[in-house]
Amino acid sequence: MVTQAAPAEERSRRHLLDVAGLDWRSLQKLLASAGEMQQLLDSPAGGSDALRGVGVTTLFYEPSTRTRLSFEAAATALGARVTTFDVATSSVGKGESLIDTVRTLEALRSQVIVLRHERAGAPWLAARHFGGSIVNAGDGWHAHPTQALLDLSVLSRHLGDSGGSLAGRRIAIVGDLLHSRVVRSNLHTLTTAGATVVLAGPASLTTGFAEHAASFRGTPGSVQLVGSIDEALHNADAVMALRIQRERLTPGELDSLEAYRAAWGLTEARLAALAPRALVLHPGPMNEGVEIDPDVADGPRSLVLEQVRAGIPMRMAVLQQVVSEARA
Ligand code: ASP
Repeated sequence: MVTQAAPAEERSRRHLLDVAGLDWRSLQKLLASAGEMQQLLDSPAGGSDALRGVGVTTLFYEPSTRTRLSFEAAATALGARVTTFDVATSSVGKGESLIDTVRTLEALRSQVIVLRHERAGAPWLAARHFGGSIVNAGDGWHAHPTQALLDLSVLSRHLGDSGGSLAGRRIAIVGDLLHSRVVRSNLHTLTTAGATVVLAGPASLTTGFAEHAASFRGTPGSVQLVGSIDEALHNADAVMALRIQRERLTPGELDSLEAYRAAWGLTEARLAALAPRALVLHPGPMNEGVEIDPDVADGPRSLVLEQVRAGIPMRMAVLQQVVSEARA
């Protein structure tokens, strides 16, 4: 077998480009660090000055509410100089390339760029041309590392053993898998934490996932693709509904939103199949009444807002880690 070395920018812990490749020890370290960050947030000071003087820029080529604001809250809580790059009013509209933009930000003394881009792989390209740290805040359909890390922190807190492991736990992820960078990143973190992940969604939106599921054989956890939502929910300890990504759908991939809700929507009636006290997650933004009903999203099992809250300490942990690796 030919083993290929990962590119240098991927190996460098100065960046966070992906969660694929992070072992359980690295994940546990981030979970522990996020726990410490939560204590800082809860302390009278509400933060620290660990990143005092560090320039952190959020550079988002795609819309975002939770991810961008929680990165900015995280950087602010650590005392960083935070700049929001407004792509819409910048020279990107005059044709400035990603490479030119990251070089310009470096010249303007940004040490960390939090990058969201519609093209898979864009953070790797940026990392090759930037002297500081790149944090991937979502690239195309490919990866959303900090979403998976915050989801892991929530699931480990509720379902993990004393070390946070999810061994023996069954986590269902249902919906538009095809366009979801959230599911692709969650498969790495959840299986590394030992969970069994059960995937389901309409055939047009799960293309390639049977093979993808098989590629997790040999990890501490496992992944399976099943044919119906009821099968996925059966005895699951948690279920994550994924957003129907209307902006990425191509004609023919979905009949109608009504038909989708009828076959795949997370409704109160369907929750009965879950294990007792099972939990409901959604990365947001939610199409309520499509992939998740409003009474489920706001119901007693829902951790949707806890996921949002968990974003701040986890992103503090990530920023702190990349900056200390860059300084090392
Ligand atoms: N907010 C998540 C993302 O950026 C999930 C979604 O958009 O559906 O991938």
